Amino acid sequence: MELDKMDENDWKYHGEGNKSLVVSHLQHCKVLRLLKFPSEDSAHTRQTAEQAFRHIPNIVDYSKYVMKPLLGEKYVHSGEVVKLPLDFVRQLSLKVQQERPELRCDKVMDTFSGCGLCLPNLTQLPLHHLRDHSPPICVEIKPKCGFLPFSRHITKECKRKVCRFCMHQHYKLANGKWKRLSRYCPLDLFSGSKQRMYVALKNLLEEPQNNLKIFKGGELIFSCKDDAKQQPELNDLIQHLRPYFPHSNSLYNGHQPGKAVLNEFIQVICSALLSGGDSNRSGEPRKVHLSESRPHCEASPFPRDLLRNGNHGLPKDSVLAKILQVQMLDNLDIEGIYPLYKRVEQYLEEFPRERNRLQIDGPYNESFMDTVKNCPTEDDGSVEYAVGKVHQYRVAMTAKDCSVMITFAPCEEDEEHQLNLEKPRFTYSVSILDLDPKPYEGIPHQYKLDTKIVNYYLRSTQAPP
Ligand code: ATP
Ligand code: ZN
Ligand code: MG
Ligand code: MG
Repeated sequence: MELDKMDENDWKYHGEGNKSLVVSHLQHCKVLRLLKFPSEDSAHTRQTAEQAFRHIPNIVDYSKYVMKPLLGEKYVHSGEVVKLPLDFVRQLSLKVQQERPELRCDKVMDTFSGCGLCLPNLTQLPLHHLRDHSPPICVEIKPKCGFLPFSRHITKECKRKVCRFCMHQHYKLANGKWKRLSRYCPLDLFSGSKQRMYVALKNLLEEPQNNLKIFKGGELIFSCKDDAKQQPELNDLIQHLRPYFPHSNSLYNGHQPGKAVLNEFIQVICSALLSGGDSNRSGEPRKVHLSESRPHCEASPFPRDLLRNGNHGLPKDSVLAKILQVQMLDNLDIEGIYPLYKRVEQYLEEFPRERNRLQIDGPYNESFMDTVKNCPTEDDGSVEYAVGKVHQYRVAMTAKDCSVMITFAPCEEDEEHQLNLEKPRFTYSVSILDLDPKPYEGIPHQYKLDTKIVNYYLRSTQAPP
């Protein structure tokens, strides 16, 4: 990519989240990730430009020195900082504006800093497009927190029985964020039991919200509808998937063939999630049982009498095991972290210059990572302990908010990296994206939000006496 010859016509709108907007290159397997700001902030252009200037390199460092060593080399692509001509960025912003979903337009793309992040386009398979294959299918899952908190600092018993995602659903429904409850439960996805994972994925397909997107040849073909009242079109998805599972068309003899296609599709996603990433391993991989506490969520629709069945635990090298391990660095829960945050705040009030030494706002380098790894287990009352736990909490928060990309396409017999299924066979790759640092300043908000979600859940589910 020649940065001085950037042309907005080579790029198109790809997608966006809460923090960033992504455009993809028309020819190369690359995307540009640009930051977004609340539109009222755009008046303070200099300030926002400076923010982005610091933030983009911070994102890359955080991914490289913190998340990648924790999650594994093969899953994380840190990307590189690119300095873009302002003219290009302004034209690009105009060009993508009409493509943006309305519910995201409360924020505007950063057109001031000229700073962006260049990443591989993970909805594509590298080199795949060079051959005359069917376009790859990419499934993006935002799995959210996969365990029940076990900290002794928890004050509300329900937090030990019902997972955060399931409780949050009720709060989001009440606040109009979504119109229907999702029946997805992260604990089912992270269970490692094929049956429970199947149910979790089925529920994601029925109500994707912002936890599931599907791409074909790099184009979004399935996601939540902009109009929250509308149901996503499962039938359209089945039509898209049909050619990838030719053998399931005959399987059920015309009786609900769509179901058979979805069934096989879910099996492929499951196998990829349980695999070691992209290689064809033989033998049963070692299972890990990460959760010491109750691994089932009482709000999950999965039938309780079936819980004992099947093979539990995630294979050690699987993408879900990696993510769960990092999520579990949050072992005090926000209720245990908030007092430590206040200890840090008090200390910084007295010694404001210590903010740099303690790396509160970065830099996210090896020394930050050392603090995360070597934090003592017992509280000795020091500010170092408090900072270590706060760092760990923020790292866990990143892992609770990341997405998994599973990209696959039919492969030829001789190809090496395959999912070991009877038929058909797929080339596939698994990655983790959206690994931004979560702000230190966000902790008081997280504390309040946790209280609100739990209180609302208790009020809405417990019948009045
Ligand atoms: P969130 O609100 O989830 O925090 P975000 O604003 O941090 O999101 P991302 O999740 O990084 O932004 O990107 C937004 C969307 O762009 C993703 O959901 C994904 O569909 C797409 N995307 C991001 N990075 C890539 C990539 N490297 N390849 C392909 N698509 C990508
Ligand atoms: Zn749950
Ligand atoms: Mg995201
Ligand atoms: Mg994000």
